[in-house]
Amino acid sequence: MKARVIEIKRFAVHDGDGIRTTLFLKGCPLACVWCHNPEGIGSAPQLAYMADKCIGCGSCVSGCPSGAHSVKDGLHIFEREKCIGCGKCEEECPVNALKFYGREMSVEELLPLLTEDREFYENSGGGVTLSGGECLCHPDFCAELLARLKEQGIHTAVDTCGAVSREAIDKVMPYTDVFLYDVKAIDGEIHKKCTGRDNALILENLKYIDGCGKQIEVRYPYVPDYNSGEAEKIGEFLSGLKNLTAVRVLAYHKYAGSKYSSLDMENKLPERMPTEEEVEEARNIIRKYGIKVI
Ligand code: SF4
Ligand code: SF4
Repeated sequence: MKARVIEIKRFAVHDGDGIRTTLFLKGCPLACVWCHNPEGIGSAPQLAYMADKCIGCGSCVSGCPSGAHSVKDGLHIFEREKCIGCGKCEEECPVNALKFYGREMSVEELLPLLTEDREFYENSGGGVTLSGGECLCHPDFCAELLARLKEQGIHTAVDTCGAVSREAIDKVMPYTDVFLYDVKAIDGEIHKKCTGRDNALILENLKYIDGCGKQIEVRYPYVPDYNSGEAEKIGEFLSGLKNLTAVRVLAYHKYAGSKYSSLDMENKLPERMPTEEEVEEARNIIRKYGIKVI
């Protein structure tokens, strides 16, 4: 069984407890206006081209089976519409101006990479986190991978937006130690405006996971003028959960703009970033409900 991988991040410290390795898989059912991982939205492979790094050497030209790269008068031209997403050119570039997202990898290929740092996991209380995009767009793959990690005694976390089927959650539940769960808004209309989708399923799934007795850490991405007014409702909703360990309020930043241009994707990132005072106020509102905020 295979899935399309965006990235494997070693020594991650924000994707659950301790030192972790995070596997990012491609494809997501939401389209958050503030998304800082645009390479995770689509399920198809994508090549990012960073024009500012390119030195026009032409090393990528001959290896491309579809003629998507050419060099004219010392200038490199990338014709995205010709790219078939094979990933061959990435390694040819001497200055990392090309980055391929979506290489298909099997559970067998991933296991040695994900368990390489197990000594660090053991010493720090860390483990492996599956993320995305939305990793649960690949429920069978995730279940198999998580089961194999648990066989080796590795702590597992699933980072999810929750906009997935109950069946997908049930598949990974037995092999998941903690869910890292996004709550972007409680108000359905606000959620739809921010992500393109209603949140009824997301909130139901959150209550379901809680009811199953699984540990949950909630992430609230705080974005001014979008969902910044939701802290009170989020605190109130989460106060009804029994297995919530903490809420992480994530201050929005707009530094992903260059990723959008490297992928020729429309950049709709909100302009305004929150002040530290605004984020702290949101944290304090949630703390009022007796919830640990990190
Ligand atoms: S990913 Fe493959 S098809 Fe696309 S530009 Fe690179 S070599 Fe060509
Ligand atoms: S190999 Fe890299 S630096 Fe050379 S032309 Fe291609 S993209 Fe530019």
